[in-house]
Amino acid sequence: MSQGCDLSVLEELTSNAKQIQDDVLNKILKANANTEYLSRFLEGSSDKELFKKNIPVVSYEHVKPYIDRVANGEPSDIISGEPITTFNRSSGTSSGNQKIYPANNIYFENQLFGYALSSAVMSKHVDGYKQGKVMVFSFTHRISTTPCGLPVAPALTSFIKSKQYLSMAKNCTSPYEIVLCPDPKQSKYCQLLCGLVQRNEVVGVGATFPSVLVRVINFLEKYWKELASNIWSGTVSDWITDLSCRDSVSTILGEPNAELADLIEHECGGQKSWQGIITRLWPKTKYIETIVTGTMSQHIPALDYYSNELPLVSKVYASSEAFFGINVNPLSKPQHVSYTFLPNMSYFEFVEVDDDGGTTGEIVDLVNVKLGSYYELLVTNFSGLHRCRVGDVLQVTGFYNNTPQFRFVRRKNTVLCVDVEPTTEEDISKALARATVVLESSDLILTGFTCFGDISTVPGHYVFYVELKAKVNNGTNVLQLDNKVLVECCCVMEESLSSLYRRLRVKDGPIGPLEVRVVQQGTFDSLMEFFVARGTSISQYKTPMCISSAEALKVLEDKVLARFFSDKSPPV
Ligand code: AMP
Repeated sequence: MSQGCDLSVLEELTSNAKQIQDDVLNKILKANANTEYLSRFLEGSSDKELFKKNIPVVSYEHVKPYIDRVANGEPSDIISGEPITTFNRSSGTSSGNQKIYPANNIYFENQLFGYALSSAVMSKHVDGYKQGKVMVFSFTHRISTTPCGLPVAPALTSFIKSKQYLSMAKNCTSPYEIVLCPDPKQSKYCQLLCGLVQRNEVVGVGATFPSVLVRVINFLEKYWKELASNIWSGTVSDWITDLSCRDSVSTILGEPNAELADLIEHECGGQKSWQGIITRLWPKTKYIETIVTGTMSQHIPALDYYSNELPLVSKVYASSEAFFGINVNPLSKPQHVSYTFLPNMSYFEFVEVDDDGGTTGEIVDLVNVKLGSYYELLVTNFSGLHRCRVGDVLQVTGFYNNTPQFRFVRRKNTVLCVDVEPTTEEDISKALARATVVLESSDLILTGFTCFGDISTVPGHYVFYVELKAKVNNGTNVLQLDNKVLVECCCVMEESLSSLYRRLRVKDGPIGPLEVRVVQQGTFDSLMEFFVARGTSISQYKTPMCISSAEALKVLEDKVLARFFSDKSPPV
């Protein structure tokens, strides 16, 4: 834990949010006022009113040219007074072009501070938190470089590889060397092995995002025999060739342990189901730590099943741009989770959004948000972002001292997501245009369409409902569906989706094959009737591009004629 990060710090921060936010902005403006970006608007001043009046609210695309210039070797002071030392590659992209956010030491210090404060909160709520170990599955990616040689990596990878992280890694069952292993399969296997050997010390099980945790359990289902046999013999499988992994796992593995091997065999092989497998293998586990708010809530049923409904703890809300807040009631139910913003992390502003998601234009400071209102978050950070849209919509649920707490509502532009890929309406339109070409070449016309992210399957996958009509009536009114054509539709749609989607749609990856469900003619009329019966005006009715309501889906599901799946992973 970073120095002095106890609960009194939380009280102090949240009691003085206004002053702290003003100080943060002042510090940022003093450091950055003479950058190329800000000096155009502020002429060297660090005055808050001038900042509010002159600095435009921007999206990533607007600042991208400046960021790219720094990435290509021009000086950091184009955007930031402090040198940019690294770039965080965000998962929040739909265009296929990855977003990279400038960062420096302050970003990592903030991450450490936020996590440390969140740990202090955890110790208050979970007995024995500090005494036990956490089996948190973490993975790192290879770090690439910008044309001028600065590192680019997902923020979590850079954080784990930063000096700040080491102090956090101490009470984890996974040795640091294993987390650093570039081969995810070897890393996963060794982390499980270490976790199993230390099973009696584990009080918490987790991963930053739940899709990873669910995949680890799937992996355990495949590998438990081999893991048990390694424990039985006291030797690690030969295919673990990464030397630092081998060394550190061997140290933890120690002597042969037949008793533990038998127990694993019994729990994994000798039972009717895998329900509660986490609590059976790690009996002292008190909670599952993983973020289950926002799109991640889709994993709650699986986690409940595997953990026998242990508390699911969403500790923090953070992104590649900044650390935002922590959950001060970590044991609250997922649907009640809110994040208390930490006013010392960055300067935060909020654009009110109305019920339809449109912005009303008013921009307010952190301490001036209204209970119950919805806002889009803007961030001004210590590494060159000024009034930049994060793309998240949040709702104010309460206040902790003088600091607001927010529920994560949704990504502003994502409409489909089954893992971490943000697919927008625009992406779906493009995919549909490709499918339409294929259908038309077979004399089929698309007369209705909507889609849905099906997470009842593992892995989750996209389902596209289509209503088709033959261009040429064959006299029978029966639609002839050619398997080859419809599978081709699935494939071309996948090919046109974002590069992140395609990367996740690899064999055994976290996204499964895209599915097209052809529905009977007239189905989309019934769908409209369904919405109209619930108050939608007919003249304004637009078929929703994406549907999540179970009732509306049932209207479609009752009329499915045939199902087709993509039969290959799209090129990455
Ligand atoms: P990235 O920049 O790739 O780390 O993605 C950051 C985004 O992930 C945020 O802007 C949110 O949309 C989402 N995210 C991060 N933390 C949470 C959370 N606790 N609850 C819901 N969504 C989150």
